[in-house]
Amino acid sequence: MSVECRDDIVETGTGAIAAALLEHYDMHARDLPWRVSPATRRAGVTPDPYRVWLSEVMLQQTTVAAVTGYFERFTTRWPTVEALAAAPQEDVLAAWAGLGYYARARNLIACANVVANEHGGRFPETEAGLRGLPGIGDYTAAAIAAIAFDQPAAVVDANVERVVARLFAITTPLPAARPEIRKRTAEITPRELPGDFAQAMMDLGATICTVRNPSCLLCPLAPHCEARAQGIAESLPVKPPKKAKPQRTGTAFWIEQDGQVMLVQRPGKGMLGGMRALPDDGWVAGRDGSGQPPITGQWRVIDAAVTHVFTHFSLELALALYRGPQIDKVAIENLNGIWWPVERIAEAGLPTLFARAASVAIQHR
Ligand code: SF4
Repeated sequence: MSVECRDDIVETGTGAIAAALLEHYDMHARDLPWRVSPATRRAGVTPDPYRVWLSEVMLQQTTVAAVTGYFERFTTRWPTVEALAAAPQEDVLAAWAGLGYYARARNLIACANVVANEHGGRFPETEAGLRGLPGIGDYTAAAIAAIAFDQPAAVVDANVERVVARLFAITTPLPAARPEIRKRTAEITPRELPGDFAQAMMDLGATICTVRNPSCLLCPLAPHCEARAQGIAESLPVKPPKKAKPQRTGTAFWIEQDGQVMLVQRPGKGMLGGMRALPDDGWVAGRDGSGQPPITGQWRVIDAAVTHVFTHFSLELALALYRGPQIDKVAIENLNGIWWPVERIAEAGLPTLFARAASVAIQHR
C-alpha cells in the first residue's frame, strides 16, 4: 500500500485505527498459504477468489494449524473451482476426512458446482451475491468480498469480535453485544485496502490481542484501546455461561472377513453425512444408539470406548467386533456397504471418530 493511501485513511476520523493497524500489518502479516502478502499485493498480485473461499470455509471453527495441510493438499489436487466441481464427491469427502464439521464439505461440493456451472467459474463479487451460494453465510461472504474483491465489508470472526469488544470496551455479554461489535467494525473498516484490514484484525486477535494475557505493549492499537485504558481487557468480550453438553452413548460395529472390514456410507444429511464409516446403532445428537447390531451372531464387545466431543453433545462410542467366516450374507447385503482391506483402512477417508474406532478395533481383534 502506498503512504498516500494511508494518509487518506487517517483523514476519515476513525481511520487512525485502520492506519495504525495496516502499518503494523505491512511489517508483521502472518505468512499463510492462502494469503497474498502486502508486498506481493503492492507488486500487483491479486488474491485468487477460489483460494480465499476454500480457506475461509476450511477455517470455519477450525484453527490455522489444522487447516494448512488440508488447504495445500486440496489446491494441489484441485487447483481451480472447475477442477473441484468435476471431482467425484467421495474423493472430496475422503480428502476432507479429519477436518470435522462435515456439512462444510458437502456445501463445498455444492458451491463449487454452482460457481463452475452457473457463474462461469467466477465467484460473485458482492456480499449479497456470495450469500446466495451454498454454505456461505454472513461472515464468509464478508470475508471473501473484502479479501478477494476489496469490498469494504465488516468482517467479524471470533478474533475480530474480541479485538473490537476491547477497543471500544463493550461490556454487554455475547451474543447481545454482536450488533454493536458489527457496527463498530463497520465504522473502522477503511475504504482503501479493506481486505488487508480484515486480515490484519484477524492476525491481531490471533497473535497479540489473545484471549488470555493480551500483549498490549506490542499492540499497534494500544493508544486507541478503551479496555486497556480501563484495565479490563482480559475480561472482554463477556461470554455467556457455558451450557453442559448432553452425553450420548452408541456402538460401532467392526465386521471383518478375509482381511476386509465392512464400511458403509452414512446418509447424505445429518451427522457426518455422506462420509464412509463403520456401521453403527443409530446414535444422533438427541438420542442414544439402540445397541442393536446390524447382523445377528457372536459379537464381542471390547473393553475400550472412543469418546468424541461434537458441537452440541459428547459421545461415548462402544465397539463390538464380529469376525467371519459365518456371516449372514443377506443381512450384509442389506447394509449396502463395501468390503475394505483392513491394511488400507487409512485410505478409506474415515472421519476422526470412526478412524479412532477402527484403530481401537484393530488393536483388539
Ligand atoms: S491494547 Fe491490548 S486489549 Fe487493546 S486491542 Fe491491543 S492487545 Fe487488545
